[in-house]
Amino acid sequence: MAKHADVLVIGGGVVGLATAHALLTRGRSVTILERKCAGAGASWGNAGLVAPRYLIPLAAPGVVAQGLWWLLDRESPFRIKPRLDPALLQWLWAFWSHCTEAHVAHASPILRDLNLRGRARYEEWAAADAFDDFSFRASGSVVVHRTEAGRQKDLKTAQQAKAAGLDVRVLNRAELDDVLPNGPSEARGGVYYPQDALLNPVQLLSALQARIEAAGGVLRPGTAVTGFERHNGRIRTVRTPRQAWTADEVILAAGAWSAPLAQKLGLDLPVQPAKGYSVTYADPAETPERPYVLSETKVAVTPMNGQLRCAGTLELAGFDGSVDTRRATPILREAARYVPHVTPDAPEQEDVWAGFRPCTPDGLPIIGRVPSLDNLVVATGHGMMGVSMSPVTGQLVAEMVEGDEPSFTLSPLSPTRFN
Ligand SMILES: Cc1cc2nc3c(=O)[nH]c(=O)nc-3n(C[C@H](O)[C@H](O)[C@H](O)COP(=O)(O)OP(=O)(O)OC[C@H]3O[C@@H](n4cnc5c(N)ncnc54)[C@H](O)[C@@H]3O)c2cc1C
Repeated sequence: MAKHADVLVIGGGVVGLATAHALLTRGRSVTILERKCAGAGASWGNAGLVAPRYLIPLAAPGVVAQGLWWLLDRESPFRIKPRLDPALLQWLWAFWSHCTEAHVAHASPILRDLNLRGRARYEEWAAADAFDDFSFRASGSVVVHRTEAGRQKDLKTAQQAKAAGLDVRVLNRAELDDVLPNGPSEARGGVYYPQDALLNPVQLLSALQARIEAAGGVLRPGTAVTGFERHNGRIRTVRTPRQAWTADEVILAAGAWSAPLAQKLGLDLPVQPAKGYSVTYADPAETPERPYVLSETKVAVTPMNGQLRCAGTLELAGFDGSVDTRRATPILREAARYVPHVTPDAPEQEDVWAGFRPCTPDGLPIIGRVPSLDNLVVATGHGMMGVSMSPVTGQLVAEMVEGDEPSFTLSPLSPTRFN
């Protein structure tokens, strides 16, 4: 006999857990089905930045030219594994068509508001006694550049962020030393974003799990969803290898795997896995006071509870989950050139982590219902900023499930916007 859940969340990443938490605080009863363990996807070894600064979507003017240039360089932070995959080709076409100033003007205020709301929610959680510590810190962040081209790019983004109402400070070399005293030695200057914040992603996952458990939610690790049955415009059953489930509401929050799962429901979700790497130094001689991003190569350098994490690269190579230390080496080489005390030695396998960012072609997440299935809500496609946006995503999904007035304009995030 099938088991029944009030709300069934598929995926135990930061988005699935934050959504389960939001639903539980509204009195719903929630079961999370997770293929491996919580955080087994992109939510574990990421850079932990909560970044309202991040308001320019990946699809922006100039990105395609830069991407093509990078494709020629084996050490570049971007790679596409050449293959004849219709879903990838369609995604790339849609991505290219969004690389316009008009799209940036459309998407920026949405990303700003989602990130600001996410940050505000993290601040509340960090102040609440009920939440275990997840090392949230109103650290601010700095984007540093070493070339004139990098400076020009950073100044443009700074202007856009200022116009969007964010706090922004452009720094010359001397000012950079004040804001980032133990920062990169060869930087020429930078832009400081005081509203950015930092947290420890693994501690966050465990704090959320503790809250979920305390509220009566159930996480079922090692439970992969393998298929669905539809009936009368609803999901009738959710199948796992050992059990069938029925549910009043199903939330699809399986990160990059949401697309292949949606396909089993006959739905087309344009979400591509964009693999990224991080390398963590367990015992660095020194850590910077606040996180920073190396502008030219997009490597993020974050201090994390005494450790130092360098994260970057974006590979559109399908679901190849192998951890290739050579792909992480350019991150380290870059870090070694600019970050004090980082050595360019080949990283140890255990210090290297890889995760799949769930990327949409327009750089906005997908949060909403689909017209063909009454009891499904999709919550995925957060790309580079899933940590930042997961608290607000949870809140929006909970509002949908409860039938409340949405606190955010949802149409730009709708799963049907690509049709
Ligand atoms: C190198 C790197 C650095 C990053 N830095 C930042 C940052 O600083 N700030 C930020 O905001 N974001 C950052 N991100 C992005 C962020 O990590 C992601 O956007 C976010 O983790 C996505 O969360 P998710 O819950 O949607 O997906 P995931 O964390 O991938 O979770 C999906 C879960 O679904 C499970 N699953 C898959 N298939 C099934 C199935 N069939 N049945 C049941 N469960 C299933 C998976 O095991 C997984 O646990 C970074 C990402 C990378 C790769």
